[in-house]
Amino acid sequence: MTLHPGLSADAASFISGRHLLLIDGQWVSPSEGRRFEVFDPATGAVVAAASEARAEDVDLAVAAARRALDGPWSRFSGPERARLLMRLADLIEANGELLAQVEVVDNGKPLALARAGIAGVAEMVRYFAGWTTKLNGETVKVSLPGEWHAFTSHVPIGVVAQIIPWNFPLSMAIWKLAPALAVGCTVVLKPAEQTPLSAIKLGELILEAGFPPGVVNILTGFGSGAGAALARHPGVDKVAFTGSTGTGKKIVEAALGNLKKVTLELGGKSPVFIFPDADIDAAIQGAANAIFLNSGQVCSAGSRLYVHERVFDQVVEGVAAIGDSMTLGHGLDAGTQLGPLISAVQRDRVSDYIDSGLAEGARIAGSGAKPQSEGYFVAPTVLVDTRPDMRVVREEIFGPVLVAQKFGKDEDLAVLAHTANDTEYGLFAGIWTSDIGRALRFARQIRAGSVSVNAHMVNEPALPFGGFRQSGWGRERGREVLELYTELQSVAIRL
Ligand code: NAD
Repeated sequence: MTLHPGLSADAASFISGRHLLLIDGQWVSPSEGRRFEVFDPATGAVVAAASEARAEDVDLAVAAARRALDGPWSRFSGPERARLLMRLADLIEANGELLAQVEVVDNGKPLALARAGIAGVAEMVRYFAGWTTKLNGETVKVSLPGEWHAFTSHVPIGVVAQIIPWNFPLSMAIWKLAPALAVGCTVVLKPAEQTPLSAIKLGELILEAGFPPGVVNILTGFGSGAGAALARHPGVDKVAFTGSTGTGKKIVEAALGNLKKVTLELGGKSPVFIFPDADIDAAIQGAANAIFLNSGQVCSAGSRLYVHERVFDQVVEGVAAIGDSMTLGHGLDAGTQLGPLISAVQRDRVSDYIDSGLAEGARIAGSGAKPQSEGYFVAPTVLVDTRPDMRVVREEIFGPVLVAQKFGKDEDLAVLAHTANDTEYGLFAGIWTSDIGRALRFARQIRAGSVSVNAHMVNEPALPFGGFRQSGWGRERGREVLELYTELQSVAIRL
């Protein structure tokens, strides 16, 4: 195993340790004894071996989650759950540097981005800790004859399977775990096979925080194995999934057996609009961040750029220049601004998209230089001369590839909204303008779960996040996600 020399001794020792499955409060070997390799995407080197959970492990984990749900966990009060979550947030911060370094090796992102993620993760846990005592139902006026007292209350939905992707492994785990635990559910979490390590470390911290056995179970393994077994398991009450739209459809089919509840956070092809009255320097930087952050492996990446013709050349040159100036490298090397893609498969997929755009008549703005490196790197790429029918404009690429088009001074908001909505997705949209009235009128016409004005990707725990159309079902964050981890029960009492 070849580890980066910049890793701390703690992180190196954790990564090269023996990684097991967390079931019923114990770290256990997988039933079939199978293991799989974990790669550092910046070098392609194997850095660890993780345990591969199979259907039998899923059975054990679901049974443990059910026992915990029916047992001690159901008697934890809101304040008791809050105390555990607050302790977990403190432990995440105390282990922040180790977690950030593990995230870099697992996923490839630059260390500064991983560190920023840790702070966000701890705040997300605290936000949901605050909700443990605040998710109230309501009293309901009853029109039946006689005297009644009736009310609603939120009851935990039960055992939840949570299946997450590799792009922000720790954040995705916390976005799912924290609200589910806040309302009193129990969980079986399956991280992506590309990035199992930070979830394992998180499991250690969850035990250290004092969560009872079986409340959180963590199964590393593959989508076709543990993932599919969880999605179809009759003992699971809900599956909360983040990943590709194609896999989301498979989850829905698998969930039909016991009609388990399903929430989905899926893909996107999100537009960014820049009007000529915007702060153009800020808009250029914002548009670059929107597509290059995390090497474009962001569900809400601003991957379609629409710029008013008066500022089109300035914006495109500016974004391409930012891309060209970015230092690609290992996330632990000083100065790295852009890491690799997650895998060789993903690198080849993204490169194929760029080639398909060029073959259909697009042109690269800026240098378009190809990285020379053994890791899975793709250089930031801005494509111009693109048309709405091109694959690069229609399909989610999930890499640092931006397609830019201009709009004219006569195009009104309805036409631009049609352009924004000309996609099967509906996750995010960005608007840059100094005319807030226009921004609000435009936002109303955009079919997307989140719209940001003069900013991109506002990562705020209180703001619901999720997709219209094929970008998903349900919402993460805010009060809305808590409701989706509960069933609403109404109680009517004849007095
Ligand atoms: P993916 O769908 O291949 O995998 C996601 C997870 O699903 C992994 O844990 C995987 O093991 C599991 N999985 C795969 N097949 C499965 C099956 N048949 N049954 C059950 N589980 C299965 O997605 P990916 O390539 O890892 O992630 C990239 C995608 O995720 C992109 O499309 C991106 O837009 C999306 N994403 C969405 C959000 C969001 O919040 N909307 C956030 C991050 C990523």
